[in-house]
Amino acid sequence: MDQSPQLMFEKLIFNIGQRFRNPSIAYWLHFLKASEKWTSEELLAYQLKKLQELVGIAYENSAYYKNSFDAAEIKPSDIKSLEDLKKLPIITKNDLLNYNKEIHTNLKYRKNFQANTSGTSGESLKFNREESADSFNRASLFRGYSWYNVYPWELNGYFWGYNFSEKEEIKIRILDSLQNRFRIFNYRKESIDFFAKKLKNAKYLHGYSSMIYETAKIINSQNLEKPANLKMVKGTSEKIFEAYQEEIKKAFGQKMISEYGAAETGIIAFECPKGNMHLNMEGVIVEEIDHEIVVTNLQMHAFPIIRYKLGDYIKLAAKTATCECGMQHFIIEEVTGRIGQTVYGKNNKYPSLYFYYIFKNLALKQSLLLTYQVIQEEKGKLTFLIEQPLDSRQLISLENEIEVYFKNDMEFTIEHSQNLTAQHKKLKSFISNIE
Ligand SMILES: [Zn+2]
Repeated sequence: MDQSPQLMFEKLIFNIGQRFRNPSIAYWLHFLKASEKWTSEELLAYQLKKLQELVGIAYENSAYYKNSFDAAEIKPSDIKSLEDLKKLPIITKNDLLNYNKEIHTNLKYRKNFQANTSGTSGESLKFNREESADSFNRASLFRGYSWYNVYPWELNGYFWGYNFSEKEEIKIRILDSLQNRFRIFNYRKESIDFFAKKLKNAKYLHGYSSMIYETAKIINSQNLEKPANLKMVKGTSEKIFEAYQEEIKKAFGQKMISEYGAAETGIIAFECPKGNMHLNMEGVIVEEIDHEIVVTNLQMHAFPIIRYKLGDYIKLAAKTATCECGMQHFIIEEVTGRIGQTVYGKNNKYPSLYFYYIFKNLALKQSLLLTYQVIQEEKGKLTFLIEQPLDSRQLISLENEIEVYFKNDMEFTIEHSQNLTAQHKKLKSFISNIE
């Protein structure tokens, strides 16, 4: 790699920061680079060992898990295989909030971080994550970067949507420059010009997928200079619409890859250069139950997460599925979407997963890739906002698909050629204003 003085300086700054904040990160990165070559049997054996350790620690040191395992008449010694995980009770976000203190173990750590989930809906969750688990999580992220020859200290563009005051903006610019990153603060002309200039030398881009998409559209429509040095464009936190990829490839010369995780679970999966989302099996056990994800984190002991319903619909690939990249880590075929709110018909209720199926069918049958947002203001009525322009034939196809799922129970309107930018917040594919 290029060892220019500037880059060596960035690396030095980065290493000093990591050394103070995350002393065990080098250990974990080394571990994960070795375990990425493990067979699935080796990975499963490691998972069982870590699961047994976790269940023992939770039972001995967390009042919540002691009670809940006792109530289910399970002892740590009952966990003899990974299958036995199913004997343990499921935990929800409400449990994490309501029994927060009791879930925390009484173990003492030299160093703890406080993790926060930004509550886009509902209360935000706070919990302690010990240094080792925090470093494991960062190392998992950096292992994913390594598949694209990206070093975390390299110049990167960061897309994270908040509304900043001028004062905050100055503070953020300073913090960003220490981490060798820059971001777009708004879509005003001078802001975009500044961003495009920085982009020329950037090695990777990451953040909200809708913001990356929005920026790609601006670059394409204004014929701005395309970045030539990008090695990775990574979307997180939001659904990556298939329809995004064309603009993104045009602007950045490659498709957007996906990282999947949450603060309370850590990194769950990371997309490899062959296009498969591999589970981070050294860090999590993932179950799929009625299309829903249930996650056990194998590394966090200060705040154990055992069989947690994260609230996403997913689809796991068959355990026999293989990937050209050679990794044997199991594959998650798709993260279908947030379970979120209920859709109300005139008489019946429906899961918001239906929207996913409607648009997936259009993509499969008609090769029609659409970016959408569905809004419900009252029961029995839906508004479908579509970014792309639709001709009358395409409109009829969409109407037919909607009717397949909602029959006569729903009135709906379709508005196409819409601007779907959620400029400073997460772009949601379903918004309900009922309740
Ligand atoms: Zn792969």
